[in-house]
Amino acid sequence: MHRKCAIHGIELTPEVQPIKYGLFSVRDGYYEEKEQHFSHYEPFITGGCVIDKNAPSTGTAQICSGCKTEYSQYRNRVK
Ligand SMILES: [Zn+2]
Repeated sequence: MHRKCAIHGIELTPEVQPIKYGLFSVRDGYYEEKEQHFSHYEPFITGGCVIDKNAPSTGTAQICSGCKTEYSQYRNRVK
């Protein structure tokens, strides 16, 4: 049973991504953009702020290819 992206109607596919730990600051408006355009894509997995030597460095996220495209367009727009 695959989930679909609510924005694009595309089935989510697994993609291996780096896991980043710690706290992140994001650009103003990022979450609004994400919610509307790329809610099923992020360039990495957030692993929380507990730093553990044995914590994995990669993980598998379910992503939408449409969201991935919109995310890269967003990055180009705000750079
Ligand atoms: Zn999508």
